[in-house]
Amino acid sequence: NMSCKYAIVTGANKGIGFEVVRQLASKGVTVILTARNEMRGIAAVSSLVESGLTNVVFHQLDVCDPASLECLAKFVKSQFGTLDILVNNAGVSGVVVDVEGIRALNIDPLSGEAANIVQGVIQQTYRNAEVCIDTNYYGVKRVTEALLPFLRLSPSGARIVNVSSLRSELKRIPNEETRKELGRIKTLTEAKIDGIVERFFCDLKQGKLEANGWSIMFPAYSISKASLNAYTRVLAKTYPKMYINCVHPGSVNTDVNWHTNAMSVKEGARGPVMLALLPDGGPSGSYFDQTNLAEF
Ligand code: NDP
Repeated sequence: NMSCKYAIVTGANKGIGFEVVRQLASKGVTVILTARNEMRGIAAVSSLVESGLTNVVFHQLDVCDPASLECLAKFVKSQFGTLDILVNNAGVSGVVVDVEGIRALNIDPLSGEAANIVQGVIQQTYRNAEVCIDTNYYGVKRVTEALLPFLRLSPSGARIVNVSSLRSELKRIPNEETRKELGRIKTLTEAKIDGIVERFFCDLKQGKLEANGWSIMFPAYSISKASLNAYTRVLAKTYPKMYINCVHPGSVNTDVNWHTNAMSVKEGARGPVMLALLPDGGPSGSYFDQTNLAEF
């Protein structure tokens, strides 16, 4: 019975997250739509409520702000006491692009292809890289940790969905050491993953990315999502009663790629929604390419 299920979606004022809320709410789930910007979030909820989805409520959440997380946790505790579904969707690209240039070329700036062809049109500064990893990787950890006490109370096992990207698949990681480390599932720990992220920053700061086996083809965005995938695996091992998976939503037409991709958000939300509503006994610690089980 979906009517007694509670879900939280991060970064849900627009794009894939907004559509995930719409689809979950349409299936009867009570959804807390969260957004870092209160006005944008309230406007998003209003449009859903006006369309007849009265089971959507708003709460502010900036995944980079621990105080805002504390506030959300208090809200969940007082309003619901438990949480069944968490969709970690909020994400940023970590690059600055020349918008005219990228639109004229019509290439997704997050693709390695783009980084190769149009250097100069795309820029990754230290600060961009920092915000990107703090949002896409540490942000997910922060949100998950703050909400775990409620997720653990979900009667049939909570579903956690981490929205990742095919840009992060292990086979694409240029740095061999990193590729191997993230692929050794049995010995993977959160500390090891954090260590890899720190190594990347160290090399970026010192201008040693290429020299130390990284590549502009694998920017901070890809590292953030590769770390997220690894974290998903560790978490799934730690909480065997939950269903914790990550998913590439498809190449979807949204702001994150300056609308250079073609797929509709309706299609892009299918994978995350399927994993949010995974039946009992389904997979955990897995990676999906849209709705298909795939190699990390
Ligand atoms: P959008 O840019 O449309 O949406 C991103 C959302 O994340 C926005 O609501 C944004 O809020 C929010 N956000 C960013 N930073 C924070 C923060 N610190 N706290 C809370 N919310 C934040 O892009 P998409 O819908 O495409 O992206 C959704 C997810 O899908 C991302 O994780 C992205 O990496 C992933 N993805 C997307 C692909 C695509 O082709 N579109 C492909 C692969 C993965 P605000 O409006 O305030 O900026």
